[in-house]
Amino acid sequence: MQVVDLRSDTITKPTLKMREVMAQAEVGDDVYGEDPTVNRLENMAAELVGKEAALFVPSGTMGNQLAVMTHTQPGDEIILGQESHIFYYEVGGFAKLSGVQARTLDDSIGIFSGDDLKSVIRDDNIHYPKTGLICLENTHNRAGGVAITKEKTDMICKVAQKNNIPIHLDGARLFNAVIQLDIEVKELVKNVDSVMFCLSKGLAAPVGSILAGSKEFIEQARKNRKMLGGGMRQSGIIAAAGLIALDERVEELQVDHDLANRLAKGIKEAGLKAIDIKEVNTNFVILEVDEDVYTTDEVLEILAEHGVKMTYFGSGLIRAVTHKDLSVGDIDYVIEVMNGELLV
Ligand SMILES: *Cc1c(COP(=O)(O)O)cnc(C)c1O
Repeated sequence: MQVVDLRSDTITKPTLKMREVMAQAEVGDDVYGEDPTVNRLENMAAELVGKEAALFVPSGTMGNQLAVMTHTQPGDEIILGQESHIFYYEVGGFAKLSGVQARTLDDSIGIFSGDDLKSVIRDDNIHYPKTGLICLENTHNRAGGVAITKEKTDMICKVAQKNNIPIHLDGARLFNAVIQLDIEVKELVKNVDSVMFCLSKGLAAPVGSILAGSKEFIEQARKNRKMLGGGMRQSGIIAAAGLIALDERVEELQVDHDLANRLAKGIKEAGLKAIDIKEVNTNFVILEVDEDVYTTDEVLEILAEHGVKMTYFGSGLIRAVTHKDLSVGDIDYVIEVMNGELLV
């Protein structure tokens, strides 16, 4: 049976070129700072995003948690979206690892407003915790992969700067935003203090993310990474794939976005009774299920019977994510399956 896996871009496998450079990578002990391939990746990443320094970390989650830990003190309050990955999907790590509490804002459209932000920043009242950090996300996962513009980002950064509060950007899919917005990554992240992006996901490296920021911030984050057990040794083996991800995969994300649009267009044109397109952003397609016809679980089951895998995204909603390991033929097969007798 043909299998078309649209659950996430995390399932992408490394390219042949990645596997070749991994086999040949020059390595050393990175805890001593002696892995030339890791050093090359960190330098390249820092330069690319226009920050002084960068740190190679095992996962996006560790990158975000290190950012929270390094920017804040225990007892601080952090401001972040109620739908943000750091709040929603990181196992409460900020509370346990950094001892901070969260103040959440409505980010159902991908970002909160400057006015909402202003209304929750703490002043120095003796009863209050200190506002230690503000977090943004781009592209925004739970808002359906939406790319947040530079204008919207800078509006929040301006409020943060005025109040002397650092800003961290969770850019797990930062380069999807960069491609969608047709902007230099440096420009997009210019006014945030730190940024994390994943080399895995759409960029297809097998493992790894980058945390970037000032030299001083990264020095402290490196120490915190060691504390968490994320100090790696001959990690040049995996950093090598990250170099290829940045060199060769960024521009290719447009292909993923084109596939998302093809899928959305095909489903729309099929005129299905039970399924409509809610939105298509970057490499995400959000489907809306008319639950009077089929439940969301029934649709997922029917698709699975035909080898098509998608994700439950809340009541009446299904998420499909396009990525490099899909072809135009795969997308057309999904449309064909939906168009079949089961879903008409
Ligand atoms: C996937 C993701 C992460 C975490 O990355 P992992 O490498 O899976 O830990 C963080 N933020 C967002 C928005 C994500 O989509």
